[in-house]
Amino acid sequence: MARYTGAVCRLCRREGEKLFLKGERCLTEKCPVTRRGTAPGQHGAAQSRKNKEYNMQLREKQKAKRYYGVQEGQFRSYFEMASKQEGQTGENLLCLVERRFDNVVYRMGLAESRKEARQLVLHAHFTLNGKKANIPSILVKVGDVIALKSSDSEKIKSLVELMNAKTFPKWLEVDKTNCSAKVVALPSREDIDFPFQEHLIVELYSK
Ligand code: SF4
Repeated sequence: MARYTGAVCRLCRREGEKLFLKGERCLTEKCPVTRRGTAPGQHGAAQSRKNKEYNMQLREKQKAKRYYGVQEGQFRSYFEMASKQEGQTGENLLCLVERRFDNVVYRMGLAESRKEARQLVLHAHFTLNGKKANIPSILVKVGDVIALKSSDSEKIKSLVELMNAKTFPKWLEVDKTNCSAKVVALPSREDIDFPFQEHLIVELYSK
């Protein structure tokens, strides 16, 4: 399925929840979820009242995919990987997606949104263990070092400034001076600050 290129705020409105896809704007009163809170479209208000089991499971899966900017096929393959790991599949799933290269760049505070982080990775602005890496879906592992290649452009300079104001998850050891981060542990469920009900995703995929 093609990547969604429409207005991202519609995705949040569809889920009836802020997915924080637009950086700073999400924290302002301009956020449409704050202002309106109904699903987009003519029948949006009626849709948001649906509460059937399947619908809840589907919405939770869509929410997670949209939050991380992952396509259905890839998300499904993360689920397959998660189900083969020890522990709870739902938690494993979220922790796997959290390890994506583009998400790490976002968590380092070097992008306002995961979408922007994905673009920066695609344009090869980062290295992984000293080598060029431009694949957003790479899963980082303990010991990996992610670093900004150069901070020459005005855009990158403004992102580096942004980084200085950020706090970082404990599984990343961030070096603000060199704009780099070392993965010191794998992320755990407590490191993911969004209230996903991951068991609903597992129920959906297990049907
Ligand atoms: Fe979602 Fe941010 Fe748009 Fe609000 S401003 S609807 S949180 S993307």
